[in-house]
Amino acid sequence: MLGIYDLVRLVDANECRELTFTPDGNIIPADSCYSVWDADQRCANCSSYKAFKSQTRVEKEEYFENKKYHILSNPIELIHEDGSRTECVMECITVSNESVVMGQGGNGVKGMDSRSLLDSLTGLYSWDGFYEKARDTFQNSQDSEWVLIIYNIVQFKLINDLFGIPKGDEVLMKVAKLLKSKLSDGEICGRLRGDQFAVLIHKDNFDGRFVISASRELPGLLQSSQYHLHIQAGVYYVSDKTAPISSMCDRANIALSTIRGETNIHVAIFNESIMDKMLHEQYVINECERAIQAGEFMMYLQPQVREDGHIVGAEALARWVRSNGEVVPPMEFIDILERSDLIVKLDTYIWKMAAKKLAEWKDTDKSELYISVNISPKDFFYIDVYEFFEGLVKGYDIDKSKLKLEITETIMMRDALKQLALVNKLHNEGFEIEIDDFGKGYSSLSLLKDINADTLKIDKEFLKETDNDKKSENILGSVIDMSDRLSMKVITEGVETKNQLDRLVKLGCHTFQGFYFAKPMPVEDFDVIWKDNNGSL
Ligand code: C2E
Ligand code: CA
Ligand code: CA
Repeated sequence: MLGIYDLVRLVDANECRELTFTPDGNIIPADSCYSVWDADQRCANCSSYKAFKSQTRVEKEEYFENKKYHILSNPIELIHEDGSRTECVMECITVSNESVVMGQGGNGVKGMDSRSLLDSLTGLYSWDGFYEKARDTFQNSQDSEWVLIIYNIVQFKLINDLFGIPKGDEVLMKVAKLLKSKLSDGEICGRLRGDQFAVLIHKDNFDGRFVISASRELPGLLQSSQYHLHIQAGVYYVSDKTAPISSMCDRANIALSTIRGETNIHVAIFNESIMDKMLHEQYVINECERAIQAGEFMMYLQPQVREDGHIVGAEALARWVRSNGEVVPPMEFIDILERSDLIVKLDTYIWKMAAKKLAEWKDTDKSELYISVNISPKDFFYIDVYEFFEGLVKGYDIDKSKLKLEITETIMMRDALKQLALVNKLHNEGFEIEIDDFGKGYSSLSLLKDINADTLKIDKEFLKETDNDKKSENILGSVIDMSDRLSMKVITEGVETKNQLDRLVKLGCHTFQGFYFAKPMPVEDFDVIWKDNNGSL
């Protein structure tokens, strides 16, 4: 865990403690209490607010001593040696390199004196001020109904990058003025952090137009062809006025998180089904973490074959085999794990199993077989993939070219040049790189130009019957020709029929993976098939 994060902290109702981990992942809580919550509910040492008991995983940013902290809060239950349990929140913290200047410039926190009730940049309430004022508002207006809205300026960082911090400050002040101008008596508005604003308004005064009219007026605040000022809002209809303000903000934030990245959607309203979805995700995440520890994840192998059915290798695919024997397919957990950092744990676990299997095959009649493993974009972000694979091949004493690495173009979405350099390094050092799902995305050709890959893996989408058979045949043929010209091997996945196989062979493809030959199977079944059929299917 440490190594991935700069700091891991455990916060409960009374204390805030820093944690360290042993190399094998066991937690060592700090001997002494890191700090006790003060009257403002803030940890005197490390700036953390008292953890609100959240049912869900929440991401937030905090500023302290000129640094920006990105905090991922996971609700967990601590089990003590005597069996007693404490509910608390584990905060996984990354300290940003961007330094921010408290109180004197830098709109990240300009004027946000951590304990002041007012934000001196915009004149709105600060985080503390908003929380305090909102609490008063609920106490003093028992009969009214309220809506809490969190606003976020999309890609605000770009304003700073493109036009400089003073311009960013100016935009924040204008947004603050605009939001304030929409308020009626008794309603409040605050800047919680950086570019995040909150308003609390009477339910009767709220309809979607409140947000949309603010959004319409926004572009006028910044004239630029490079950047289009765009704001998104998460809305929570307050149902329990006695609940902590932080969990109300949480809910508005949860709604907001469902439209992050959408350019045409301005507003998301929190409802219980969003909560249910988040709770389900959280359940899967918790369960998966436990299942990985308990060894419930297994590596299945799907053979890759030549046209005559001879097996040349296999793809490693994860399956979750529950204690009742139920086999859970990846589509039920991969996406969820990819949204959390747990995918790294699963992937590295499967890579290890693949390396171990290759080591077992080394001096047998399977010594020529390779195993392809899947790499997710998050893996590149959290670990040194190169070091990890180097360690694996050394540790298991296997040939690098036998461990093929399947990547998709989504790895290039973040920090493309860095990822490209890393993939090319892996290739240059002798690992086989496969471009997976080729044809599923939109920019595959530009990726091919820059990346040193060995194999192109054509996606099953290409095999689907289309209205224009001739055209799809031509495209498929061109892709196969192109890989030939780029000196890349080609494999087609999703081959389900003899007809598809014959067409592909005619077009020049000679390696296949698909249900026509075999479905993914447990390693023991793979061994049996290999033995019974002399390495063929
Ligand atoms: P993928 O990497 O494209 O893997 C191939 C998928 O196509 C597998 O689905 C396989 O069962 C399926 N497939 C193979 N032949 C056929 C066929 O003839 N017809 C049809 N309809 N499907 C076929 P699976 O095992 O359900 O895995 C789904 C996806 O989950 C994988 O797609 C991969 O993206 C992801 N995944 C699976 N295991 C792992 C893992 O260990 N790590 C990561 N990061 N992703 C994984
Ligand atoms: Ca794959
Ligand atoms: Ca694929």
